[in-house]
Amino acid sequence: MSLLVTGIGELTTWEPDRDVRHDAALVVDDGVVAWLGDAADAPAADERLDVAGAAVLPGFVDAHTHLVFAGDRVAEFEARMSGAEYAAGGIRTTVAATRAAGDEVLEAGVVRLLREMRRSGTTTVEIKSGYGLSVADEERSLRIARRHTAETTFLGAHVVPEGARVEDYVALVTGEMLEACVPHARWIDVFCEEGAFGADEARAVLSAGAARGLVPRVHANQLGHGPGVQVACEVGAAAADHCTFLTDADVDALASSGVVAGLLPGAEFSTRHPYPDARRLLDAGVTVALATDCNPGTSYTSSMAFCLALAVREMGMTAREAVRAATQGGARSLRRTDVGHLGVGARADLVVLEAPTAAHLAYRPGVDLVRQVIAQPPGR
Ligand SMILES: [Zn+2]
Repeated sequence: MSLLVTGIGELTTWEPDRDVRHDAALVVDDGVVAWLGDAADAPAADERLDVAGAAVLPGFVDAHTHLVFAGDRVAEFEARMSGAEYAAGGIRTTVAATRAAGDEVLEAGVVRLLREMRRSGTTTVEIKSGYGLSVADEERSLRIARRHTAETTFLGAHVVPEGARVEDYVALVTGEMLEACVPHARWIDVFCEEGAFGADEARAVLSAGAARGLVPRVHANQLGHGPGVQVACEVGAAAADHCTFLTDADVDALASSGVVAGLLPGAEFSTRHPYPDARRLLDAGVTVALATDCNPGTSYTSSMAFCLALAVREMGMTAREAVRAATQGGARSLRRTDVGHLGVGARADLVVLEAPTAAHLAYRPGVDLVRQVIAQPPGR
């Protein structure tokens, strides 16, 4: 069954020769883009959808989320907005709630958030573990996540659980816990930050994961000038995420290594911290991805459009750069070539906006501009 989408006012493709087209059409066949070009030249198809001048863009690729958890931390948010500071240990509140929850509660939470994401235009989602912190709870978090996306990340090294010594916990994460989680994970991640894991511990976690076939990604430089970005570049990680506090050497390392800088402005919004400087990274030639970091503690948004608006308003990105970072940038972060763009042969995950250009996503913050999502089921 083929579908001709025509009357596209602005079609964002990220094709190298013409990244944005006007008065365009596109043919979807068997879930992939079979043809795209001027609406006047469009071939026939089994079905036809005229979007009447709307903007069409690739579905968002959210390459950094923590969807497997129970409970919420709204009280902590309210306290923080009244002047309290964020410390990494708040994660332990969610760990206790997650451990106490049944599988069906955890899975229902994932399904609810994925439904929100899909409605708001996100068609590829990465999901991390990290609120279990025991062999059984990390394993089941990933087992549940895996039912909904191929992009699952083992984040046993999120924080050292209450009462454990860091060296003992790293031994568990790199040993028995890793073995239990490997069958359900594609990626391995570590929260490399003061109050969580240092450089040597991060290296140990990432190299143990890599030895078992998982690809590294790092939570880096969120709360201060830590070693996370340098470790990510050293081990050839796919992404260094957060990148809020960077030295010139960090920026150079990202640019020369090709490690994607994942920027998560929902976290700065929700913790009232300074935003990362996307302009500095883009000017240095770093590949930038935007993601929600959706989690109950520091960024409880599932909206890529919200993050995109923050990136344009607060981080020095143009609207086009932000849309690229939220689609193709996310795909690069996940080392995917089939999503995040709409070239011939790409997966036909596309978003039809209730607006004539994609820039309206930043121009009209807080407004639901997604008219229709045409895509495979979330995360497949
Ligand atoms: Zn995170």
